[in-house]
Amino acid sequence: MVVTRFAPSPTGYLHIGGLRTALYNYLWARKNGGEFKLRIEDTDLSRNSAEATKKIIEAFEWVGMDYDGEPVYQSDRFDLYKSYILKLLDEGKAYKCYMTKEELDKLREEQMARKERPRYDGRYRDFTGTPPEGVEPVIRIKAPLEGEIVFEDGIKGTITIKASEVDDFIIARSDGTPTYNFVVAIDDALMGMTDVIRGDDHLYNTPKQIIVYEALGFRLPRFYHVPMILGPDGKKLSKRHGATDVMEYKAQGFLPEALLNFLVRLGWSHGDQEIFTLEEMLEHFDPSDINASASQYNPDKLLWLNAHYIKNSSNERLAKLLEDFGLYLLSHDKREILLDIFKERCKTVKEIAEQIKEVLETPENYDEKAIKKAMKGNAAEILEAFAQKIETAGELHLPTDYHALMEAFVSEMEIGFGKIGMPLRVALIGRLGGPDLSDVMSIVGKEETLLRIRRLLDFIETSNASS
Ligand code: GLU
Repeated sequence: MVVTRFAPSPTGYLHIGGLRTALYNYLWARKNGGEFKLRIEDTDLSRNSAEATKKIIEAFEWVGMDYDGEPVYQSDRFDLYKSYILKLLDEGKAYKCYMTKEELDKLREEQMARKERPRYDGRYRDFTGTPPEGVEPVIRIKAPLEGEIVFEDGIKGTITIKASEVDDFIIARSDGTPTYNFVVAIDDALMGMTDVIRGDDHLYNTPKQIIVYEALGFRLPRFYHVPMILGPDGKKLSKRHGATDVMEYKAQGFLPEALLNFLVRLGWSHGDQEIFTLEEMLEHFDPSDINASASQYNPDKLLWLNAHYIKNSSNERLAKLLEDFGLYLLSHDKREILLDIFKERCKTVKEIAEQIKEVLETPENYDEKAIKKAMKGNAAEILEAFAQKIETAGELHLPTDYHALMEAFVSEMEIGFGKIGMPLRVALIGRLGGPDLSDVMSIVGKEETLLRIRRLLDFIETSNASS
């Protein structure tokens, strides 16, 4: 059975690097019919907040990543950690160290002066004398004095650390609280982890955790340390590169499956396949195939994937998602045509909302450059003539009705399409560009089309009169 976990420290929002780590663990557990657990590493009470935990769980819900059982909170487990500290003390595998801060600082200075790496010198390791008075001891674990700590990393290969590189590190502070590497090892062991996939910023915590595993006689999991995500500039990914909070992607109009697809490929590949449904990820994902070198964040690729998933979403789903962006189409009579058009053109749900609003709302003002370009010469007269053409035409409903009308108009007037196209565009949506004009007219209807044309003509007349 495969058991994996995601173990965030709730110090802020869930960032995309964290979500990628979670996804890899999730896929590996689900692929193997195993379990995926969530552990909240909230022992640092000064830096952690319940609010941050809530946000992490919210982000999990948004992407649809389900975990097994209830989240485990380290802050609920202090008694458990304490019992293991006592056990190690009892067995002589850990000891009390009475060194004061001043003594430690002095030792460090001396070591630095000798150009040695600062490390605890083990002076209380075999201490049997009378402890100094007034010093609350810390508890240190006995690290091996010689040899090497060796483990196989599923991504980076064999990792070898000389015993001399790891000192007898603190497992409980003088106030009794346990330290990070100690509790992580205990939790991973007791929660039954078989595979630990995490960021490679933890690579050098692993030897310390292995010392804890061995002292307590726990079985080691397999470790996979995932290289980090770099920004498009090759530097560490940060807020500078845009949104890093997972929920910010939702606010920007990304679909969760696009974000997951993007993240799975950021550091892992299967041939040159780019698009992965969840089923395909489950079929092909293996943490041993994660790239050993860092991957680079490419915002255009995310947009490209999002456009793909938007195109393939049902109009009903999109209509529901659009409500977050203030657009209510669920029971709109033009819902299908609107969404058929805009899901082909837009890369985010937010963009769909903006562009549809632009069509549905009578323009409040006009793009100045567009007016200059479109309303040259006799453009106003042509537009007026087109308005009359619409008024005298019979029933107009479908885009093809409007298209036929425009064709008839340009051939009667003996003008190019652009001569009516440009002014009409400005009248309808206030700017150049945008969707097909016949579509827009069909969506807003004959009356509204006429209203928009007349508004632009009035605007032009007023501005001519005042200039
Ligand atoms: N809590 C750690 C973090 O947020 C993760 C620890 C781990 O995965 O072992 O970076």
